[in-house]
Amino acid sequence: MTIPDVTARGLGVPGVPGLSGAGVTAVPGSTAVLPTVPANSASADPASADSAPADSAPPAAAPGAGALPQLQPPGFSPESARRDIPILHRTVNGHPLVWLDNGATTQKPRQVIEALGAYYGAANSNIHRGAHTMAREATQMYEAGRSAVAEFLGAGSPDDIVFVRGTTEAINLVAQSWGRANLGPGDDILVAVLEHHSDIVPWQLIAKETRARVVPIPLTPEGAIDQDAYADLLSSRTQLVAVSHASNVLGTVPPVKEMTALAHRYGAKVLVDGAQAVAHFPVDVQDLDADFYAFSGHKLFAPTGIGALYAKPEILRSMRPWQGGGNMIESVDFSRTTFAPVPHLLEAGTGHISGVVGLLAALNWFTSFDREAVAAYESALMTYAQQALSTVPGLEVLGSAPERIAVLTFTLAGQDPAGIADWLDRDGIAIRAGHHCAQPALAHYGLESAARASLALYNTSEEVDQLVTSLRRLQEAPEEVR
Ligand code: PLP
Repeated sequence: MTIPDVTARGLGVPGVPGLSGAGVTAVPGSTAVLPTVPANSASADPASADSAPADSAPPAAAPGAGALPQLQPPGFSPESARRDIPILHRTVNGHPLVWLDNGATTQKPRQVIEALGAYYGAANSNIHRGAHTMAREATQMYEAGRSAVAEFLGAGSPDDIVFVRGTTEAINLVAQSWGRANLGPGDDILVAVLEHHSDIVPWQLIAKETRARVVPIPLTPEGAIDQDAYADLLSSRTQLVAVSHASNVLGTVPPVKEMTALAHRYGAKVLVDGAQAVAHFPVDVQDLDADFYAFSGHKLFAPTGIGALYAKPEILRSMRPWQGGGNMIESVDFSRTTFAPVPHLLEAGTGHISGVVGLLAALNWFTSFDREAVAAYESALMTYAQQALSTVPGLEVLGSAPERIAVLTFTLAGQDPAGIADWLDRDGIAIRAGHHCAQPALAHYGLESAARASLALYNTSEEVDQLVTSLRRLQEAPEEVR
């Protein structure tokens, strides 16, 4: 798919998708904006990887993993993504960074970093108000971002997209606006047990207010959503089904399209949490027939603090404001206030304008790759990682649903998850440990905490080997050096 190139509309400064040609010049030095790294902990110079501390030898080839068939990237090379991402070339604790915490947040290509610098250097203005050139240009960029998101999600119109801080805010918006108007005593909200807390707690809060019920949809032992139980739970009381397009802890990709069709037979709406899905496989909200779809920019190579909510136009038009302020009104009077149409109605106050600029740059970057080839590469990398991890004594991966993204949550016999993360960090490998904001999903396996490696398009089989080597060394290490 192609994202509209705003530059072609006579708007773009080099480095800022959307700002040049309009009498604006490029920001001096905008191509050299890189994060500063403290000299004592890391270096942007790959050569300094040689200065590893004596007590943490650089990871050698993974025993066992080396015997695995080589990964054959079909039509996509992770190097083509890696070379755009400056942070992947730094070191951590004397080792080249291995970033396997993509489920928490993704790293940013220089196109995004430069777009932010160039926006603030040449294009900063508030939007939708003010009759000057800068305001008009910033508004055009912001709205170009909305068009890009609509196209990325397969929405029918940019007007179906509301900018929010992220998935959490999108779900709270739906709960507070749509939920407050449509939920009442005796109504059911079905929520899959694998949901992130941000797709559980907002429903609990609004259910308490409206005296509706939050009903968990159970999981199978494999970590899939139990489709028989789901069909049994649906009834005329069901007002909403909340389900992730991909689980952040089990990797499970539920059959969202089929689940949505079933929910619609009962007249229920479906909210899809796309936080983990959007960076892994193409999404088409109209094909899914989703009523709501939410995602966070920062899990999609864009800055933090920006995300989007899609809603079907007829539902969006029926929604009441959830926050009041500037931007969302037409006129204000102490006797009568009239409101702007959606999506502006749901965007009170000054939005995260630079965040949208960064999101637009991220979408342009990400969609420049062949998405099907990226998905195929990630799937091959996942298979490689599963095989490689199976060579680590005492390691067990949670979840084995048939459809999964490249998320590997695991336990290691005799090790606590925080200790595993700490050990790997000494080798420059970043994974996550804890409850992953999905306590019910972990409780399904009798766990309170686990370690998680989550992969992205820029990860490589060599990085998986380094993870496996380090974990094997941990299992062999005497107690006193752990
Ligand atoms: N939903 C899922 C599946 C997630 O993985 C996350 C974050 O990890 C969220 C929602 C919340 O996203 P954010 O914190 O960006 O709002």
